[in-house]
Amino acid sequence: MGMIMVRCPQTGRSIETGMEMEAERFQRMPVFFSRTYCPHCRTYHEWFAAHAWVEETRDRARVALA
Ligand SMILES: [Zn+2]
Repeated sequence: MGMIMVRCPQTGRSIETGMEMEAERFQRMPVFFSRTYCPHCRTYHEWFAAHAWVEETRDRARVALA
């Protein structure tokens, strides 16, 4: 499982969408559209799946241990 991430168009920082999904499944999904609250701008940003990516929880755990 991984966290679906999007890039904030205002600050360029990554935002956790709060949606978790396996990366392989995410890549197979049809194009969809969503909106996520941005803690940097304190507003909602709308985004397309094409602009999102999945950050694997495994990778994050490894970073935390490094
Ligand atoms: Zn933002």
